[in-house]
Amino acid sequence: MNIVWFKRDLRIEDHDPFFTACQSGNVIPLYIVEPELWSQPDASRRHFHFIHDSLLDLDRSLQKYGAKLIIRTGDVIRVFEDIFQNLGAFTLWSHEETGNAWTFKRDVAVAKWCKSHSIIWHEFPSNGVVRRLKSRDNWSGLRNMRMQNAIIPPPAFIPLFNHINSEPIPFKEDPLFGKRIEGTTQSGGRSEALKTLHSFLKERSGRYMFTISKPGASARHCSRLSAHIAYGTLSVREIEQATKKRIQDLENIGDPESKNLIYNLSAFLSRLAWRCHFVQKLEQQPEIETQCMHPSFEGMREPHFREDYFQAWKNGTTGYPLIDACMRSLIQNGWITFRMRAMLVSFASYDLWLDWRKTAPYMAGLFTDYEPGIHYSQFQMQSGVTGMNAIRIYNPIKQSVDHDPEGKFIRRYVPELKNIPLTFIHEPWKFENSSKHYLEPIVDHQKAIQYAKEQLSERRQTDGFKEGARSTHKKLGSRQSPVKKPKPRVEDDRQMSFDF
Ligand SMILES: Cc1cc2nc3c(=O)[nH]c(=O)nc-3n(C[C@H](O)[C@H](O)[C@H](O)COP(=O)(O)OP(=O)(O)OC[C@H]3O[C@@H](n4cnc5c(N)ncnc54)[C@H](O)[C@@H]3O)c2cc1C
Repeated sequence: MNIVWFKRDLRIEDHDPFFTACQSGNVIPLYIVEPELWSQPDASRRHFHFIHDSLLDLDRSLQKYGAKLIIRTGDVIRVFEDIFQNLGAFTLWSHEETGNAWTFKRDVAVAKWCKSHSIIWHEFPSNGVVRRLKSRDNWSGLRNMRMQNAIIPPPAFIPLFNHINSEPIPFKEDPLFGKRIEGTTQSGGRSEALKTLHSFLKERSGRYMFTISKPGASARHCSRLSAHIAYGTLSVREIEQATKKRIQDLENIGDPESKNLIYNLSAFLSRLAWRCHFVQKLEQQPEIETQCMHPSFEGMREPHFREDYFQAWKNGTTGYPLIDACMRSLIQNGWITFRMRAMLVSFASYDLWLDWRKTAPYMAGLFTDYEPGIHYSQFQMQSGVTGMNAIRIYNPIKQSVDHDPEGKFIRRYVPELKNIPLTFIHEPWKFENSSKHYLEPIVDHQKAIQYAKEQLSERRQTDGFKEGARSTHKKLGSRQSPVKKPKPRVEDDRQMSFDF
């Protein structure tokens, strides 16, 4: 008897553990709803909404083979113990998971339980993340090799283990999944993932890099595959190979429009590689979820925490129109583009001097695509506590003028500013009787970041800072881009970081 434990890999295509398990004997495809996972501070009902759609779709795929997804609710070890007691010994198959500290500890406990019951647990690599990597120097070569390997087809036949009942897939409204969410959530599931990939490669990518930093248009022209990657309805290898195939076809056409698409799709490929790079960091150093990558920054913000600032940031009521519009749009839609995520974190960390450990779990709950490896690394980078990255402080007024020049996005999400003249949309406090129209800015940006810069530079001058930064870079820093970088032709999210 083989149990295939589905976690953040909700598909049967390019699924090595499922394919191999089907070749070795009768299979139980199992998904476990873990109540304790859903009570963690970074979990949210929004994640479950996406998972719910994906489980339904996974079940539909299995039904085509006469199989069924088995659902169990409870602590994983209790679920396995129950199966073991009632049905006998089994072999366990899954992908390696690089999740938060809670899933890491859970997997350690599962490994111990397996050992004590003489159960073999086959864990297969997931995407480009290399477990027990000896040196970061070899990583990109290993990752790229994996991306070139052939995609694993779904099994031709699923040998079923029939003597097990399933619970139903929980409802989206089940109280287990925490607070009600406001707004909508991107639909999950393999079929949606394929449609999204197809429309990006065929139609939407032509304006990808041009709109990637625009809070409004990016929602259509970015790939929108992040949640699908986070929950594994598509593998990164599938996406990468489909993109390369599309680039190859376009190269054969060779007209200006094809060249434009190739430029955009190459930039997209770099981001897929960044994804694996960031998750690899968490794989190698799980502590980055709770500790600053550079220890010199510990204790810098924590004692100065202001609950009123935190609430204003969380609710989109800081008085800075673009900050508030972005936060409200995120609450509403569960997604916002990279630059606006970075700006929201920069504002929380520098202007409001909030510690990233307070802000990161809140935003994790808002993002449908929450991926701990990217999330915590990015929070640390955008808060200036890695010691190895340049400090990036975003000016919310400049971002607003640059990326929402006509204030359309602001007016949409901050209806209080609907009728304010365009001249004042980015700085409504300059309009006559401004307090009648909108909130006063919560802090003065220039003064706030002056303080932040002084604090950071004090920390950077402490003894041993450079050595600490070098050792973090050796362990976690990027060596080279795993794919050839296209020359930036328009502003993209690697540029314009220093707009103090
Ligand atoms: C503070 C902060 C937190 C973030 N948290 C997450 C998160 O929890 N989950 C998440 O998937 N992304 C996160 N990102 C990265 C990025 O914003 C999103 O991946 C991207 O906006 C998702 O939209 P997309 O799929 O349309 O991206 P595209 O631009 O179409 O990119 C394709 C894929 O590449 C990867 N990717 C894109 N940008 C980055 C990046 N800068 N770093 C690493 N991988 C990247 C993602 O998997 C993405 O789906 C975060 C960024 C910041 C600044």
